[in-house]
Amino acid sequence: MGNLDKFCQSCGMPLEKDPNHGGTNADGSKSAKYCSYCYENGAFIGNFTSAKEMQEFVRAQLKKQGYWLFTRYLYTMHIPQLQRWKK
Ligand SMILES: [Zn+2]
Repeated sequence: MGNLDKFCQSCGMPLEKDPNHGGTNADGSKSAKYCSYCYENGAFIGNFTSAKEMQEFVRAQLKKQGYWLFTRYLYTMHIPQLQRWKK
Protein backbone atom coordinates (compact mmCIF):
# COMPACT_ATOMS: atom_id res chain seq x y z
CA MET A 1 0.00 0.00 0.00
CA GLY A 2 2.89 2.40 0.64
CA ASN A 3 1.95 6.05 0.86
CA LEU A 4 -1.77 5.42 0.73
CA ASP A 5 -1.63 4.12 4.31
CA LYS A 6 -1.22 7.66 5.53
CA PHE A 7 -4.45 8.87 3.99
CA CYS A 8 -8.04 8.25 4.92
CA GLN A 9 -9.14 5.50 2.52
CA SER A 10 -12.46 7.25 1.94
CA CYS A 11 -11.85 10.99 1.54
CA GLY A 12 -8.06 11.09 1.07
CA MET A 13 -7.33 13.40 3.97
CA PRO A 14 -3.92 12.88 5.58
CA LEU A 15 -4.70 10.98 8.78
CA GLU A 16 -2.16 13.04 10.71
CA LYS A 17 -4.39 16.08 10.08
CA ASP A 18 -7.38 14.42 11.67
CA PRO A 19 -7.87 16.14 15.05
CA ASN A 20 -9.43 12.93 16.40
CA HIS A 21 -6.66 10.71 14.98
CA GLY A 22 -8.95 8.42 13.04
CA GLY A 23 -12.51 7.21 12.96
CA THR A 24 -13.85 4.55 15.31
CA ASN A 25 -14.58 0.89 14.66
CA ALA A 26 -17.74 -0.84 15.87
CA ASP A 27 -15.91 -2.03 18.99
CA GLY A 28 -14.81 1.51 19.82
CA SER A 29 -11.17 1.07 18.75
CA LYS A 30 -9.55 3.56 16.39
CA SER A 31 -9.64 2.92 12.67
CA ALA A 32 -6.24 2.90 10.98
CA LYS A 33 -7.90 3.37 7.58
CA TYR A 34 -10.53 6.05 7.89
CA CYS A 35 -10.68 9.52 9.39
CA SER A 36 -13.16 10.68 12.00
CA TYR A 37 -15.09 12.69 9.39
CA CYS A 38 -15.80 9.56 7.33
CA TYR A 39 -16.13 6.74 9.81
CA GLU A 40 -17.84 6.40 13.17
CA ASN A 41 -18.75 3.30 15.20
CA GLY A 42 -17.94 1.02 12.28
CA ALA A 43 -20.07 2.83 9.70
CA PHE A 44 -19.46 5.47 7.08
CA ILE A 45 -20.81 8.97 7.71
CA GLY A 46 -22.87 10.50 4.91
CA ASN A 47 -24.48 9.01 1.84
CA PHE A 48 -21.61 8.93 -0.61
CA THR A 49 -22.07 6.29 -3.26
CA SER A 50 -19.11 6.97 -5.55
CA ALA A 51 -15.60 8.37 -5.65
CA LYS A 52 -16.90 11.19 -7.82
CA GLU A 53 -19.39 12.28 -5.17
CA MET A 54 -16.66 12.22 -2.54
CA GLN A 55 -14.35 14.23 -4.79
CA GLU A 56 -16.98 16.89 -5.35
CA PHE A 57 -17.70 17.08 -1.63
CA VAL A 58 -14.04 17.39 -0.64
CA ARG A 59 -13.39 19.99 -3.35
CA ALA A 60 -16.27 22.08 -2.03
CA GLN A 61 -14.85 21.82 1.50
CA LEU A 62 -11.40 22.86 0.32
CA LYS A 63 -12.90 25.78 -1.58
CA LYS A 64 -14.57 26.98 1.61
CA GLN A 65 -11.17 26.82 3.29
CA GLY A 66 -9.72 29.03 0.58
CA TYR A 67 -7.64 26.52 -1.37
CA TRP A 68 -6.84 27.28 -5.00
CA LEU A 69 -8.35 25.29 -7.82
CA PHE A 70 -5.08 23.53 -8.61
CA THR A 71 -4.55 22.52 -4.99
CA ARG A 72 -8.12 21.26 -4.78
CA TYR A 73 -7.49 19.14 -7.84
CA LEU A 74 -4.21 17.78 -6.46
CA TYR A 75 -5.66 16.92 -3.05
CA THR A 76 -8.57 14.99 -4.51
CA MET A 77 -7.14 13.28 -7.60
CA HIS A 78 -6.19 10.11 -5.69
CA ILE A 79 -9.66 9.55 -4.20
CA PRO A 80 -10.74 6.98 -6.85
CA GLN A 81 -7.68 4.88 -5.93
CA LEU A 82 -8.57 4.70 -2.23
CA GLN A 83 -9.72 1.40 -0.76
CA ARG A 84 -13.31 2.43 -0.28
CA TRP A 85 -13.79 3.23 -3.97
CA LYS A 86 -11.50 0.76 -5.70
CA LYS A 87 -13.46 -1.88 -7.53
ZN1 LIG B 1 -12.02 10.57 5.53
